[in-house]
Amino acid sequence: MNTNSLNQPLGGNDMPRFAGPATMMRLPTAEDPADIDVGFIGVPFDIGTSNRAGARFGPRQIRAESAMLRPYNMATGAAPFDSLQVADLGDVPVNTFNLEKSIAIIEDYYRRVVTADCIPITLGGDHTIALPILRALKSKYGPVAMIHVDAHADVNDHMFGEPIAHGTPFRRAVEEGLLIAGKVVQIGLRGTGYTADDFDWPRSQGFRVVTAEECWYKSLAPLMAEVREQIGDAPVYISFDIDGLDPAFAPGTGTPEIGGLSIMQGLEVIRGAKGLNVVGGDLVEVAPPYDTSGNTSLVAANLLYEILCVLPDVPYR
Ligand code: MN
Ligand code: MN
Repeated sequence: MNTNSLNQPLGGNDMPRFAGPATMMRLPTAEDPADIDVGFIGVPFDIGTSNRAGARFGPRQIRAESAMLRPYNMATGAAPFDSLQVADLGDVPVNTFNLEKSIAIIEDYYRRVVTADCIPITLGGDHTIALPILRALKSKYGPVAMIHVDAHADVNDHMFGEPIAHGTPFRRAVEEGLLIAGKVVQIGLRGTGYTADDFDWPRSQGFRVVTAEECWYKSLAPLMAEVREQIGDAPVYISFDIDGLDPAFAPGTGTPEIGGLSIMQGLEVIRGAKGLNVVGGDLVEVAPPYDTSGNTSLVAANLLYEILCVLPDVPYR
C-alpha cells in the first residue's frame, strides 16, 4: 500500500467536468505501477474483431464519458479512494499493424503491472486482449477464477483459421492453464450459433454457463451468491464484454445480439463480486463509431468504476 496522500478524482467544483485532461475519472496519471495500488489501463486494440471494428477508440471515449463519475458509490457505500492509490496509467502502445506482436506487448505490459503489486482495470479494446492479460495474471497468481459477462462464449477454436482473435481467448486460456475451469462462470450468452452445441464445450471444461434467457425478468443477486460460493477465496478476474448487455443499453459494440442483460443486471453481477479476491478486471468491446449518443461508453465507464468498488481493501461506509 502506498503511503503518500491518496489520489482523488478531480472534482467538478475545482474544474468544470467538461474541461481538463480526459483521464479515467479525472484521476491523476501515473507512469510507474509501483507507485499505485490500482491502475486504469487503456488497450486501444481492435484488430482481433470479426465484424464491426472500432474498439480501438474505446479507451479514449470511455475516459471522456467517465468525467461525471464522483468518488463515492451511493448505492453500495464503497469508498475506493479512501484507501487505495488509484491512477490512470495511460494506454498500452500496441502495434496496430500486427496482432501477434500486440499480444506480446500487452502481456509484457501487464506482467510489469502485476509484478509491481498493482491491480489492473482495463479499458478495452476488443476481447482478444483478455488472453495476454490472463497470461500475465498467471505469472503472479497461477490460474484464476473468472466472472465473464458476454453475449458470446469466446471459446472458438479458430476464426478464419487464426488461433488468436476476439472469439477465441477463453479456448486458448483453458489450453494454456490460465483458468480454474471449475470456477469460471459465463453470464449472458445468447444469439445464433454455428452449431447447436456451441455452448457445450465450455460446459465440458467445467464452466458454468448462464444463458441470457436464464437471466430474463430476474435479479441476478441470487446467482451471484452461488457464484461467490463456487469461487471461494480463489483469485478471480472479471471480464465484462459490453455486448453482454442488451444493445438497447449498449449499442456501440462490434457484434451486438438482441435479448441481453439490463444495466441493472450488469451492476448486480459486478456488485455481487464483493468479498471475492478480485485481482483485475476489464470492460471490452466498446466501439464508439457505433455509439452515437455516447451512452455505451457512459455505461462502460460506470461499470469500470463498479469493478474498482469491489476490489479487496475498499472500505464501505
Ligand atoms: Mn467477448
Ligand atoms: Mn461478445
